[in-house]
Amino acid sequence: MGIRLGCIADDFTGATDLANNLVRAGMRVVQLIDVPPAGSGHDMDADAVVIALKSRTVPAAEAVDASLRALAWLRSAGAEQIYFKYCSTFDSTPAGNIGPVTEALMDALDTDFTIATPAFPDNGRTVFKGHLFVGDVLLAESGMRNHPLTPMTDSNLVSVLAAQTTRPVGLVDHTVVAAGAEAIRSRISELRANGVATAIVDAVSNDDLVRMGAAVQGLPLVTAGSGLAIGLPANWGFRPSPAAAQLPPSAGHRAVVSGSVSEATNGQVVEFLKSGRPAFSVDPLRIAAGEDIAGQALAFAEEHLADGPVLVYSTETPDTVRTVQGRLGAGEAGELVERTLARVAQGLVERGVRSLVVAGGETSGAVVQALGLTGLRIGPQIDPGVPWCAAALPAGDTLHITLKSGNFGGPGFFTDAFALLDAEDAA
Ligand code: ADP
Repeated sequence: MGIRLGCIADDFTGATDLANNLVRAGMRVVQLIDVPPAGSGHDMDADAVVIALKSRTVPAAEAVDASLRALAWLRSAGAEQIYFKYCSTFDSTPAGNIGPVTEALMDALDTDFTIATPAFPDNGRTVFKGHLFVGDVLLAESGMRNHPLTPMTDSNLVSVLAAQTTRPVGLVDHTVVAAGAEAIRSRISELRANGVATAIVDAVSNDDLVRMGAAVQGLPLVTAGSGLAIGLPANWGFRPSPAAAQLPPSAGHRAVVSGSVSEATNGQVVEFLKSGRPAFSVDPLRIAAGEDIAGQALAFAEEHLADGPVLVYSTETPDTVRTVQGRLGAGEAGELVERTLARVAQGLVERGVRSLVVAGGETSGAVVQALGLTGLRIGPQIDPGVPWCAAALPAGDTLHITLKSGNFGGPGFFTDAFALLDAEDAA
């Protein structure tokens, strides 16, 4: 069996979120950090491949370009259906990028119709009569109203999408979705006959997504948040199974690198410290003063790895972070810390760490790059939305890695993660 579903995600953590949903619905999934060179990597042992781009907020022409490169690779690898994944709050501006990328993919796939839905009821994102709700409030009344890059001030997705596409946008409303896949299909035929190119589809429950998934079987392109992923794998006969999430057994030392300053991560660091395990705190001011903090962290880790996991963290409370940012500038402080933690991660792997927890979205990006990882096989979920992954190190060994963006994970995440690995290895 080859690749069935080829996915193009407009950011990294969104890609993992999608991959995680597909695995839970029974597909074996590999997430690629970027588009592989043309013609390479087609022999991947996976039912779905998710290519993670950074195309959410770049100029539309760049987003289109990157998406088309991803599409070309996925098609040459044999993907039968393409899934363009964006944020569940439909993050975009009148200039794009959801509309322009969708149109470009439709043209390249030579198709006149696709659907669009960011709905993910499990995460509080529902669409009713074309209007997107975030929890209990309309999108335009949610925090997204004030987003610095993609402020969302209109909750009606039909008009939001119409403003960024040249083609007519329609709606498959909830009455139709509730009536089942057949009803959705016939509504789609009707819209298509009337020249509608993209239809927003309502969904207020997982059942709606499952019906929608069945109805879009055979469409060359679907566009959605990560929610639709729960309804697609069944079209190829996949059923939820732990086998889809199976990774090779873990080996080697264990460590946590945390550069996230979110509230959830602060709680996780406190919990880890309380457990009395070895931890090294990275102080940006000392890095700025020229101290070799990465070297010190690695020397500390080396002493304790045998009874790991060892934590290396720059995580601090908002007040402390503000003070540091006041002294160094937010950008400079962030960069110093990211560079240091990426070097620490590299050094840890050189010292035999083969299971690594990374906390922080930006931090994860820096670590993945420093380690030279190109692909992640998605494994079992530690906490909602955060799976263990297996990656091939450039030297050939397998690294187990989990990339936790800021606010994900329960308080015990840094130890729960390794407990799950132990349980998987024992199974
Ligand atoms: P999150 O997912 O929680 O947003 P990120 O890694 O994406 O985490 O972002 C956190 C940012 O804060 C990074 O740029 C990181 O380098 C920076 N940072 C981490 N620790 C500190 C600190 N103690 N002082 C200032 N900035 C920090």
